[in-house]
Amino acid sequence: MASLRRDLVTGNRIFAHHGILDAYGHLSVRDPEHADRFIMSRARAPELVTEDDLMTFDLEGQQMTRDARSPYQERFIHAAIYEARPEVQAIVHCHTPSILPFSVIDVPLRAMYHMAGPIGVEVPVWDIAEEFGSETNMLVINMAQGRSLARTLGGNRMALMRGHGGVLAGNDVPEVVRAGVYMDINARALTAAHLMSGGKVHLLSDAEVRARIPAPGTQPGREWEAWCAQVGRSR
Ligand SMILES: [Zn+2]
Repeated sequence: MASLRRDLVTGNRIFAHHGILDAYGHLSVRDPEHADRFIMSRARAPELVTEDDLMTFDLEGQQMTRDARSPYQERFIHAAIYEARPEVQAIVHCHTPSILPFSVIDVPLRAMYHMAGPIGVEVPVWDIAEEFGSETNMLVINMAQGRSLARTLGGNRMALMRGHGGVLAGNDVPEVVRAGVYMDINARALTAAHLMSGGKVHLLSDAEVRARIPAPGTQPGREWEAWCAQVGRSR
């Protein structure tokens, strides 16, 4: 549990360092001792998160202990995905600039190079307006909205949220951090490839994507050690 909490703080710092998360967005991990709970920071910019900021929530997004500090408003994203997907152990919700265009145009976000395989074969787009109308504030602020998003995610690794950002679900904190960093590089490279080619882009095949998704329990690669060092954290 101590290493899990340390990884969660480190993952927040790495995501901030790489510009995947700015002052908004959040990373969570399922509680290994209570599968019906998850852990995430209080509402704080990811680059400032410490272990003292971590809070535990149930799968309705309710805090397990009374606490005067504010939780993230969009914690229901995490609660609903952990509820729907028992195998998912870590989740990031982000507003990364590079993925935003793919949430509002007909060009799908897909893996165009090997490191981005962990975004999965398909990245569906969830539009909050489809179920909740065109007068929401765009945020996922209750379980009904979280469950709607989780339904669109389905069995995929990643979903985009129209005009908002995305969500990426994976095996553990280092694995989701790795997938998130390469998701961003992939989105930027894919945008460039589209612009350079007029849309004639050779994407990875479905089998090539699947071959790049790490099995649960896979040890972090050399990037984790390097990224920990970049943010001044021991691995
Ligand atoms: Zn958001």
